[in-house]
Amino acid sequence: MLKKRNTVLLFGIVSIIILISVQIIIIKGVWQQKDEMFNLRYRLFSQDAISSMNRRLSTDGFDTVRFILNGYSEQAIIELSAIKNDSALAAKKKEILTFVQKALKQEEDLSDYLRNYFGRQGIEKNFNFKIVINRFELIDNDTRIPIYVSEEFADRTPPTPGSAPPSLIKKNTSEILVKGDRFERNNFRLDIECYIDFTNKQKTILKETFTSLALSGFSIIVVVMIFIIAFRNLMEEKRLSDLKTDFINNMTHELKTPLSTITVAGKTLEMPQIRNNDSKILETAKLIGKQSVHLNQLINMILEISMWERTQFQLDKKTIEIEEIMNDVVDSFKSGGGDGASINQKYNFNDAKVDLDAVYFTTLLNNLLSNAVKYSDKQPVIDIEGFTQNNNVYIKVADNGIGINKIDQKHIFDKFYRASTGNIHKVKGLGLGLYYVKKIAEAHGGDVTVSSKPGKGSIFTVTIPF
Ligand code: ADP
Repeated sequence: MLKKRNTVLLFGIVSIIILISVQIIIIKGVWQQKDEMFNLRYRLFSQDAISSMNRRLSTDGFDTVRFILNGYSEQAIIELSAIKNDSALAAKKKEILTFVQKALKQEEDLSDYLRNYFGRQGIEKNFNFKIVINRFELIDNDTRIPIYVSEEFADRTPPTPGSAPPSLIKKNTSEILVKGDRFERNNFRLDIECYIDFTNKQKTILKETFTSLALSGFSIIVVVMIFIIAFRNLMEEKRLSDLKTDFINNMTHELKTPLSTITVAGKTLEMPQIRNNDSKILETAKLIGKQSVHLNQLINMILEISMWERTQFQLDKKTIEIEEIMNDVVDSFKSGGGDGASINQKYNFNDAKVDLDAVYFTTLLNNLLSNAVKYSDKQPVIDIEGFTQNNNVYIKVADNGIGINKIDQKHIFDKFYRASTGNIHKVKGLGLGLYYVKKIAEAHGGDVTVSSKPGKGSIFTVTIPF
């Protein structure tokens, strides 16, 4: 059984891991595809926008930039030629580059056109516009004065003016290249690349892939849930089968004891020396009688339980003064031996009268008392407390016994459950006593609970409404 359970567990976990991995791969693929489609779509939209700009406004959006830079370059060439010192030269070049960057940023008209165009098309227009300078040179007659060359660009063939961009998307970034161009005038030459980067790209893709994502997530949750339910059923099946095995063992043991006593007693009666001894015969007969009663009780208990399963609990309720019946049960428990337990009673029922089935209630209390004695490793001390509160009768039976651990506390009211199966035959029982107690309390509209600490004793609280 253990092997089977482990195999099922392992199989289930492996299947779930495979399922999740497959789903992740599929989702990643779908995401990538959507991402590429998004880039392609916007790349085409941007080219449409650029051609429309050319057609309608006869500009590429950089006319002002070119005009400003040409004038500025002429001036810069003069200023540069006057500088002799290397570091001052480098500083001047830096200053020139900063100016070019600023002019590009402030004076280009392409980004606004793109935004408007996208807006008119009803597509996403929230993007960052970025211009990368790849090379900037001043031209003094036929001499070129390099101001800046980007590292990446140094060994790349520059685009010819007005040509298509060299690559679709800049690698490893979310930026989409929309334009790569060379601007050349009398006094300067500038190579640039323009990128758009969508701030809401992930959100848009997420929206588009949401259905597949949700379906994948849902299917994973369903599979995990089915697995958990199946595994729990398997565990429950195992628990019930263990309980059944324990019960059969206990039952055999319980039935065997009185039966073997009766067998031995019968054999004793056959002995000639006993037959002449009246007192021995009487004693043996009494023993047989007592064991037969015990056997009968055991069989009745089992029969009764199987009857409860099939029919409703039939109570024969009568209005009873609760304190009276409590005293009666405790007295008869004491006179029946009570295994030397010292029992303290403290009642505060305020003469409450409760509708009870006296026979079942007696069984309930007797089971609690006999357990308090059975599960004690020292001289048993039992404190019974009774009181009324909010139209309920509370009966607490506290003992100084071995106590019950937290895990067992959850199951002790189950049919056939016995705590610490390792000690199964040390204390006799069938695991039915507390099941009875619970059933009887519930049949009266009440309940029973336990609070206990191993080694410290247990308190059973029965509540019955009145
Ligand atoms: P049984 O006594 O026949 O085993 P019960 O249903 O009466 O069956 O009790 C179920 C289990 O609960 C017992 O096996 C025992 O381990 C535990 N138990 C019940 N009452 C007590 C108690 N007063 N103190 C400690 N353990 C108890």
